Amino acid sequence: MSKRKRKPKSTAASDVSGEESVVLHETAPLQLRYYGDPVLRKRAEPVAEITDAEHQLAEQMLETLYATGNGIGLAATQVGVLKRLIIVDIGEDDDEEYEPLVLFNPQLLSSEGDIVAEEGCLSIPDVTADVKRPERIVVEGIDLQCESVRIEADGLLARVLQHEIDHLNGVLFIDRISGLKRRLLSDELTRLQKAEKPY
Ligand SMILES: [Zn+2]
Repeated sequence: MSKRKRKPKSTAASDVSGEESVVLHETAPLQLRYYGDPVLRKRAEPVAEITDAEHQLAEQMLETLYATGNGIGLAATQVGVLKRLIIVDIGEDDDEEYEPLVLFNPQLLSSEGDIVAEEGCLSIPDVTADVKRPERIVVEGIDLQCESVRIEADGLLARVLQHEIDHLNGVLFIDRISGLKRRLLSDELTRLQKAEKPY
């Protein structure tokens, strides 16, 4: 998921030493897949075992996310890998600082309430729309240490988690907006489908 504005993250690491970021980011970003790419409509497979390959994929996905500048979440599907893996880094929300999250086989256990908020997607550049989703959710998954984790989320975190889990099922946020609004976006979506990738 993307958002238009992102508060700069703590500049401590990059200010102290430019070299440090080189050490931390030795993997290369992956190629993002864009709207119109059939892979975005496929269902991702559960991850049976978390090996070095999964660790590397997660790290590369974080790299890819940070390289976008405005991304706050990414599903493996969006880099063309059909594994049930999402990463989320919303930075700060409501004055609360959040750690980056790596979640394998994420599952929505429960949800309540409804709330409308604007969404964007790294795979659908420059398109945003209001999307209604459950307000509070409980998600379960497996982290990089193969531990089961349960996350109770609301606000932006709940929204990003739902958006990314949708990707694993081949669902895009534009599928969740009303027909009228979608028709208003249809020219833009057709243009994107034909366009060269923007970056
Ligand atoms: Zn997305």
